[in-house]
Amino acid sequence: MENKKQTVYGAVVLAGGSGSRMHTKTAKQYLLLNGKPLIYYALRQFQDSAVEKIVLVVTGGQEEYCKKEIVERYGFTKVCAVVAGGSERYLSVHEGLKALTDVDYVLIHDGARPCVDQEILKRTMDTVAREQACVVGMPVKDTIKIVDEQQMAKKTPDRRMLWQVQTPQAFSYALIREAYDAVVASGEQAVTDDAQVLELACGRTCRLIEGSYRNIKVTTPEDLDIAEIFLKNVK
Ligand code: C5P
Repeated sequence: MENKKQTVYGAVVLAGGSGSRMHTKTAKQYLLLNGKPLIYYALRQFQDSAVEKIVLVVTGGQEEYCKKEIVERYGFTKVCAVVAGGSERYLSVHEGLKALTDVDYVLIHDGARPCVDQEILKRTMDTVAREQACVVGMPVKDTIKIVDEQQMAKKTPDRRMLWQVQTPQAFSYALIREAYDAVVASGEQAVTDDAQVLELACGRTCRLIEGSYRNIKVTTPEDLDIAEIFLKNVK
């Protein structure tokens, strides 16, 4: 009987950067939410999903601390590497991708989005296996203005065509690795998400799929209170 090869999903979970918009002494990824560090929650969801391997990207110098205090302490057995990130998010992603081997697909996730859940992860894995590239997001609720340098409103894009993009963003590993290698080598600077790396490298677009309005990125102090409410039943 022919042995059908199982699709292997990996993840890069980002916990690098300084989180300076939080204005706290403790780095944002270790702030406690309902008694557990912020980064615990995303790792918990990936650990409990069909993802087989996780690379955790942290600020340089915090690798050993994270291995001991997060990975070992909470029993995240799928974390196969803890690596140092770079000075920008996209450079951290590149380091994470380089440390992830032998996977068909990779889900790239901001560790600062602790409210990701199993439904979102499942939807992302199903879609990427069909489409090779997909991004989680939600339609915007507010009207968005494009402003000039003087903060004067210049344009009002049609709201029906606007989505706010979240993570995970998922790709065929070979496709996104090649795109990241090319964009990092080119020295491009203004990169804020992974789908944009594909756009820059080869003009390829991604399918947007529904995430959740709860899947917030914890960035400023008020986000901590909201995340604690959303996470109150998460173990
Ligand atoms: O900077 P921002 O809050 O948008 O970061 C999104 C995610 O990227 C966070 O999970 C953060 O830990 C990560 N990041 C990183 N390396 C950087 C900057 C941000 O891993 N240099």
